[in-house]
Amino acid sequence: MYVVELNDLQGLFTALSQQGYTIIGPQVRNGALTFDRMTSVDELPRGWTDHQDGGMYSIARSGDDALFSYTVGPHSWKRFLFPARLRLFAARREGKGFAVDPPAATPAPPYAFIGVRACELAALDLQDRIFMSGQYADAHYTAIRSSAFIVAVNCGRGGGTCFCSSMGTGPKARDGFDLALTEIMDGERHAFLIETGSSRGKDARAAMQAREADPSEIARAAAVSRAAESTMGRALDTSGLAGILAENFEHQRWDDIAKRCLACANCTMVCPTCFCSTVEDVTDLTGDHAERWRRWDSCFTSDFTRVAGGNIRMSTRTRYRQWMMHKLSHWVEQFGSTGCVGCGRCITWCPVGIDITAEAAAIRGANVATTNG
Ligand code: SF4
Ligand code: SF4
Repeated sequence: MYVVELNDLQGLFTALSQQGYTIIGPQVRNGALTFDRMTSVDELPRGWTDHQDGGMYSIARSGDDALFSYTVGPHSWKRFLFPARLRLFAARREGKGFAVDPPAATPAPPYAFIGVRACELAALDLQDRIFMSGQYADAHYTAIRSSAFIVAVNCGRGGGTCFCSSMGTGPKARDGFDLALTEIMDGERHAFLIETGSSRGKDARAAMQAREADPSEIARAAAVSRAAESTMGRALDTSGLAGILAENFEHQRWDDIAKRCLACANCTMVCPTCFCSTVEDVTDLTGDHAERWRRWDSCFTSDFTRVAGGNIRMSTRTRYRQWMMHKLSHWVEQFGSTGCVGCGRCITWCPVGIDITAEAAAIRGANVATTNG
């Protein structure tokens, strides 16, 4: 492990830019921590933190100079890999037929993602399984994902709606990164412990003024991750949960949730693992040009489940049940792991504060307990 002082962290940004990466990192936009292009350490949200609970999000000054003192915001990295709208192809009239223009090549230069949290690495891994494996791998996703440089940052505090610890996905990044940073602040000292996860990561570390970490610095970084774990606002007991949900398909809790749920689809839009989409065909007024677009869709929209013969999920009850059971039960059957990484976004950004951990606990029959937030 290595250490780089704050003043030398810019060396990483410079090296990535020189290698042709478009750097994307956290920035304050419209009262939230979101992701945008950046070229400098100075653009990171120094001195900002966030407060989150069910249906509640705000940012505030942290009172220190930390660059990564917040957890996850409304954006996830999927918007760069699996964009909300993507043109699949265009077609134009030619005589009595039409010609199809192939999809554009990879539309962006390689990305370097700065500040990827452990839960988000787990979400990327889940989306990789959907988009990059099997007979129908997604060419757009695969091209961007394969070239992306991942700089993970280990969380130093748990958010009010975070529960990655109970999902086994955080708070410390274990793999799936090129570099992983842990921010260390001790009095006047402001530095980053660096772990490398790839040969590309080693090359990038070599471009910084990094030196080998001493045992006290490694211990300090371990304490940062422990602090995050001990301040996590939620927990989800996953033991036997897939089976419990399957056995409680007609549980009255689904009716109770349906009375509160607005079927607004916010939870699926912010979720870093949700991947449902639909396609739309549009033409110009002449009818000579047409395009097919893919856009995000959600199991909460009525059109999503319309099939020949009718709609297979007519009620909010069945739509929420489908979403939650897909995350916590069907994924387990299909992939051997849950489809939830415990990021807490669906709790924070639900306008009525519906909490997947509380709903799962209610169906399990356990008491609902939050420890923070
Ligand atoms: S279901 Fe909720 S907590 Fe789980 S990954 Fe999706 S947004 Fe995060
Ligand atoms: S659970 Fe919340 S965010 Fe999701 S559809 Fe219902 S009201 Fe919207």
